[in-house]
Amino acid sequence: MTSQRVLPEEIGPTEDATALRIRWRDGHTSVYGPRQLRILCPCAGCVDELTGERILDASQIDAGVHPLAIEYVGRYALQFQWSDGHRTGIYPFDYLRRLCDCEECRSTSGGDV
Ligand SMILES: [Zn+2]
Ligand SMILES: [Zn+2]
Repeated sequence: MTSQRVLPEEIGPTEDATALRIRWRDGHTSVYGPRQLRILCPCAGCVDELTGERILDASQIDAGVHPLAIEYVGRYALQFQWSDGHRTGIYPFDYLRRLCDCEECRSTSGGDV
């Protein structure tokens, strides 16, 4: 049930190249800090599949971590190859969209985060 809302129109670095920007089909733009994305990796090595608990210790993630490559996974997700060697995380577009931390998204999500 992938709606237009969660399809990226354009994916690339921000102008200062410090963050990843996704422009969505509905015109919305999300900006993600690379370290933030790395910490939120949804793979089985970072999150306990049964409990949903995050196993990854954020304090062990280098401040300068960044994606070396970003690949599309089918039509529904992105896979990042991180500079720390981690590359098993698959980030579905709807997950990325939910991670959007802009003011607009935070207020429409009900602020129950
Ligand atoms: Zn992971
Ligand atoms: Zn947003």
